Amino acid sequence: MAAPRTLIAGNWKMNGLNAALAEVTALRDGLSAPNCDILLCPPATLIAAMAEVAGPIMVGGQDCHAAASGAHTGDIAAEMIADAGGAAVIVGHSERRTDHAETDAQVKAKAEAAHRAGLIAIVCVGETEAERDAGRALDVVLGQTAASMPDGATAENTVIAYEPVWAIGTGRTPTLDDIAEMHDALRAKTAELTGSDAMRLLYGGSMKPGNAAEILAIETVNGGLVGGASLKAADFGAIIAAA
Ligand code: PGA
Repeated sequence: MAAPRTLIAGNWKMNGLNAALAEVTALRDGLSAPNCDILLCPPATLIAAMAEVAGPIMVGGQDCHAAASGAHTGDIAAEMIADAGGAAVIVGHSERRTDHAETDAQVKAKAEAAHRAGLIAIVCVGETEAERDAGRALDVVLGQTAASMPDGATAENTVIAYEPVWAIGTGRTPTLDDIAEMHDALRAKTAELTGSDAMRLLYGGSMKPGNAAEILAIETVNGGLVGGASLKAADFGAIIAAA
């Protein structure tokens, strides 16, 4: 199989006013024939404006509702993200699973909504520290992956992001061996679930310029989902250059 094209995705979380778009234009202007796909997921308020200036950088959302429209105050439909110029949406981020008690079934429905709207679904999975310490990391993550996988998932419309909850925003990462073990298991699981061995598997959790190259060199790591280090063009650009 040809290796899937690397995807470096940034998740701005609840950060960024209009002034932050200067980082995107700086990133865009600094790109020289990148060897990967690039995606930035700003807050919903910036999707349309970012899409205007992003050039070859894809823009996406951080969450969507499962419904296409209706009485859901404060929510955003996948169709609205597409309408604003988005190409993808993150679903099931651990902060959504924790802060909004999102279940695997809801995450699956959101990913299916993303596909309905023509968006790539980036489905996040990951174990807590207590689950890893109890030796349950593989079980938890493979279980989340099976239960969150949208019907009709293909290597083109779905990406899995493995993000250990305890590595997000902490500066800590698993060992390279632990990342490889998890990604090898995810490669087998996604192939079993979808019939494709080419689904992109991203690593996320404290990825930064100093560790990106060694993590991205793992054979079954097909990119990264980057939080804090995606906010500054210099850091995110360095991770893209490492891909
Ligand atoms: P981090 O966040 O890179 O700041 O650890 C990653 C994420 O939550 O997607």
